[in-house]
Amino acid sequence: MRCPDWLMPVGRVVLGPDTGHRLRIIRSLTAAYVYLVCMALLLRGVTLGLVTAPVAHGLIAYMAVGVVTFYALLRSGCTLRLREPGLALEQSYFAISAIVVAYVIAGPVRGAVLLLLALVLVFGMFSLTPRQTLTVGAVAIGALGGAMAYMSWRDPREFPAQVQAIQFGLAFSVLPTLSLVAHQVSQLRGRLLKQRQALHEALARVQELATRDALTGLINRRHMQELLDQEMKRQDRSGAAFCVALIDLDHFKHINDTHGHHVGDEVLCGYTQAALGVLRNADIMARWGGEEFLILFPETRAEQALNGLERLREALRGAAVSETVPGLAVTFSAGVAEHAHGHTLRQTLERADRALYDAKAHGRNRALLAAAPSAR
Ligand code: GH3
Ligand code: MG
Ligand code: MG
Repeated sequence: MRCPDWLMPVGRVVLGPDTGHRLRIIRSLTAAYVYLVCMALLLRGVTLGLVTAPVAHGLIAYMAVGVVTFYALLRSGCTLRLREPGLALEQSYFAISAIVVAYVIAGPVRGAVLLLLALVLVFGMFSLTPRQTLTVGAVAIGALGGAMAYMSWRDPREFPAQVQAIQFGLAFSVLPTLSLVAHQVSQLRGRLLKQRQALHEALARVQELATRDALTGLINRRHMQELLDQEMKRQDRSGAAFCVALIDLDHFKHINDTHGHHVGDEVLCGYTQAALGVLRNADIMARWGGEEFLILFPETRAEQALNGLERLREALRGAAVSETVPGLAVTFSAGVAEHAHGHTLRQTLERADRALYDAKAHGRNRALLAAAPSAR
């Protein structure tokens, strides 16, 4: 149910800004409503002569202090640091103490008060741990039984033992049963929470797998395609040029053949680290294929992109790209194309690819700029 707009500011003041914490405050305020009704009934009991005034006023004051204190603690946010920020266990014990006192002082209507103990367990289902629901159930039955036994010993005329025994028997059949149900609901809640967490983690992992290359940790070709599409749209709006560089490691097959595939893998990672160390934050590199990489230079002219590749060449010259074979060096050839407005991405990538082919043909270890696109 959506809150009406005019109520939003009131909700923010009463419940605070933390949306996750609001539910706990709402629960506490719902309990406060029950306390308020009980206070009103106690006052009515005083006017009807069922309850003595000082005793009733004492209990009303006790409940009021409890309600205000719990609300203040929750609303201030200071409980957020606690393991259970809703103070559910403390609120349950407080409620049990108030209900047991109410049972003792409620005169002929004390039987009805027992209903409230059941309410405590219902509240607990949604905020206590499975174990706590059982403890709260045991404390409720223990406190009630203790109070009944004590009162029938101290005041057997007002609390006849047989009547107390029947009432206790009834409470003893209802409260443990409810406590077990609360336990099951609480367990179910825990399982749902775990499943939700597992689902979140699985989703994050799937997204990671779908967008990243497992060996180098770089984004993969599919994700880079999406980023290129976004960059095209940005260019349509802003008109700022961007460049792409297709990079291919030189004689990589020779590295694999000479030192083994795992050294080849190390070189792919070594190249990646060296490149990430010299590229600007805005530049994005993806693993485009086996030993091919694509760099997107957003809002960059061709000369600047070529400068970036020169920095990379420089960095690779001194880089240790393999732990297994110290001193192993690797070079790359690259084709750079500036995306021309009105052309397709495919055309730009083809131009970069042709420039890369030329770089290989002219002896490798160089970056060449693609020819300007032909008029459409
Ligand atoms: P050129 O200078 O013309 O690019 O020569 P090259 O040897 O680099 O080119 P070629 O395309 O013939 O070889 C690329 C090799 O890269 C072949 C393939 O087995 C290897 N390769 C592709 N992916 C991986 C990988 O993930 N790990 C390793 N170790 N090798 C890979
Ligand atoms: Mg290749
Ligand atoms: Mg190659």
